[in-house]
Amino acid sequence: MTRMLTVLAAALTFMQPASAGLFSDDDLATARELRERALERDGGFEIVADLTTRIGPRMAGTEADAKAVAWAEELLNDIGFDRVWLEPVTFDTWHRDYERVTVRAPGVDEQELVSLALGFTPATPEGGIEAEVAMFADLAALEAAEPDEVEGRIVFIANRMERSRDGSTYGPAVQARSRGPQVAADMGAEAIVIRSIGTSNNRFAHTGMTRFDDETQAIPAVAISNPDADQLERMVALGEPVTVHVDVGAVYSEPYTSHNVIAEITGSESPEKIVALGAHLDSWDVGTGALDDGAGIAIITEAARLILDLDERPQRSIQLIYFAAEEIGLLGGRVWAEKHHENFGNYQLGAESDFGAGPVYEIGARVVDEAWPVIEAIQAELEPLGIDLGGREASGGPDFIPSLPHGLAVVDLRQDGTDYFDYHHTENDTLDKIDPENLAQNAAAYAVLAWLAAQSPIDFGSGPELLEQLDQ
Ligand SMILES: [Zn+2]
Repeated sequence: MTRMLTVLAAALTFMQPASAGLFSDDDLATARELRERALERDGGFEIVADLTTRIGPRMAGTEADAKAVAWAEELLNDIGFDRVWLEPVTFDTWHRDYERVTVRAPGVDEQELVSLALGFTPATPEGGIEAEVAMFADLAALEAAEPDEVEGRIVFIANRMERSRDGSTYGPAVQARSRGPQVAADMGAEAIVIRSIGTSNNRFAHTGMTRFDDETQAIPAVAISNPDADQLERMVALGEPVTVHVDVGAVYSEPYTSHNVIAEITGSESPEKIVALGAHLDSWDVGTGALDDGAGIAIITEAARLILDLDERPQRSIQLIYFAAEEIGLLGGRVWAEKHHENFGNYQLGAESDFGAGPVYEIGARVVDEAWPVIEAIQAELEPLGIDLGGREASGGPDFIPSLPHGLAVVDLRQDGTDYFDYHHTENDTLDKIDPENLAQNAAAYAVLAWLAAQSPIDFGSGPELLEQLDQ
C-alpha cells in the first residue's frame, strides 16, 4: 500500500505543469493580496471620473490634449511614481467644425440624417454637395462597380457591423471607413456616406479616422447612425432616385507637438528591465472618451498604484505609458517604437488596455516558448477573476502594434466587448457606461500581471530572440 502511494505521488509530481513552482510563495501571496485589494476599492473609477469631468473630450492637437498631458503629469507625480517624464510626438492636426446630411426623394419629405464627419475628411465647398445616391452593400460591392455607377454621385456604403464579444467583427466592417472614401474618390464620387461602424440602434453616429493617399483628391466623408442608415436604405428601396446633401466644415491645421506621458516604478534588482503597461490619453472630439480610453488610463494607473503601495518594490521596473494621438493613427505608439526598439531586449512585456471597461475573460500572449509556462502560472492567479488561458497570439493592444515587427513580447488581457461598439467613437461614450466593479476587475488583472511579470524568473524574450522563434 505504502509503495503504491509512493508511486502515485511520483506520478502526480511528474504530471505537474511546467508552470508549478515558478514563483516563490511570497510572490504568489503578494499577487493574491494585490488582486483582493483591487476588488475592494474604486480607485480606477475615481481616475476616469476626474479625467472625463475636468478635461472631457481631448482630441489630439487640441487645447484639451495639452490639458490632459498636464493632468496626467500631476496625477502620476501625486501618486508617487519614482520617475515621470514626457516624450514628444509631433503630428498634423484636423478638427471638425460641423456636419449636416439631408436626404430627398420623390414622394418623401426632406429629412435630416444624424451624422458625424470622419476624421481628416475635407470640408465641402460653401453650401455643401448635392448628388444622387449610389448605394452599395459593402466595400467589395463598391470596388466591383462600374465607374459610371459612381462618377458624380454620393456613394453610400450600407454594411452593418455585427456584435461580438472579442470585437473581431470590427476589423472587417471598418474597411468601409478606412478605405471606402479613397476607393469612392478614385472612382469619381463627389462625397461618401457610410453606415456607422458601430452596433448601437440609437441615433448616434460613429466617427473615426479615414486616410487618403493624396489629400488633394480627398472627398468629404461622413458616417450616419444605424437607424438613419436603415432609413436611407428604405428610401433607396422605393425605387426612385434619392438625393443626398452633405455639408461639412472641417479644418486642417499646423503640426502640433503632444507627448507620451511615462511613469516608472523603478525595479529593486533589475531596474533596466521593464514591464510596460499602456493606454492612450487622447480621445475623439465627441463624447468624453470615458470608455475609449479613459478606462484604460484608469485601469493601468490603479494597477500600478496598488503595486506602489506595497512594502517592497518589484524586481524589475514597471512603466506606465499614456500614449498620445492614438485615434488619429497610433502616432504615439509609432514614435515610442521608433525611440525604444533598440532597447527591446530589456522590455519584458507590453500590454495596453484599450477596449473599454468590460470584464477581462482571457489572457493570451506572444512570448518565447521558454516563457509560456510563466504565462500559465500568471493565468492560475487570474483564474479567480474569471480569466481563462487563451492562445499564443496577441497584439498587446493598438499602440504596441508598431512595436511587433521589432519583436516586443506582448500580453492581451481580453475584455468582453459585447457592448463596446454601442458607444465607441460616439457622443454616447460617457462615464455612466463604466461599471466600477468591472473596472476594478480589470485593475486587479493588470496588477497581478504586472507584479508577476516583474518577478518572473524567466525573461519573455523581447527583441531578436522572439523574432527568430516566430520565424521558425
Ligand atoms: Zn482607443
